[in-house]
Amino acid sequence: MLITQLKKKEEILPFLKAKTLLVACFGCKEVFFPEKEYQNIKEEFKKLYPDLSGEIVLDYLCNEDYTAKRLELYRQEIEKAETMVVFACGVGVQTLAGLLASKTVLAGCDTFYLPGFSGFTPSSYDCEQCGECRLSSTAGICPVTACSKGLLNGPCGGAKNGKCEVSKIKECGWENIMNKITTTGKVAEKLKESVSIRDYKKSQ
Ligand code: SF4
Ligand code: SF4
Repeated sequence: MLITQLKKKEEILPFLKAKTLLVACFGCKEVFFPEKEYQNIKEEFKKLYPDLSGEIVLDYLCNEDYTAKRLELYRQEIEKAETMVVFACGVGVQTLAGLLASKTVLAGCDTFYLPGFSGFTPSSYDCEQCGECRLSSTAGICPVTACSKGLLNGPCGGAKNGKCEVSKIKECGWENIMNKITTTGKVAEKLKESVSIRDYKKSQ
């Protein structure tokens, strides 16, 4: 089981623009989601940004096939949106970022560890429940699990032909992150962001 916690309001506010779509995952009862806090913060956001593009509420966002089907119902809203702020566990955010590769998908929650079930697709979309979700800066690819060294500030430089220097069968997570950032045209903006040191206490 996992626990998700909303990021601080000050962390989310810079993400919000007129063309921002909020996406929330309520359905997975194996992940504790702070639904009441989400409803409160959503109302605050709407007052501050009356032109927010809208909201999609789904369940089991981490189930890729199911989510892909459900998203078809919201095609128009998604087309209009430039940015999507996702309130779900790290697995859910990664699933959406994978399905909507041309959109900027940002994490509205941090995910914390509790022993037990962790979503339907944990092997494809790993989340180590680090408690400080970085997916907003890494194009929706988790640097903690995609990089063998869990580096947060860029590639180590040891990759060869796209493979990690630690394991020849593993892709370099940071090459994938940089490729995705580059293809979505966000590279300059992202490279300016500073990276805080990881607080390992949060993943215990
Ligand atoms: S950065 Fe990775 S490990 Fe940390 S909460 Fe986000 S998806 Fe999970
Ligand atoms: S080669 Fe890439 S994935 Fe491997 S440790 Fe270095 S940055 Fe991380």
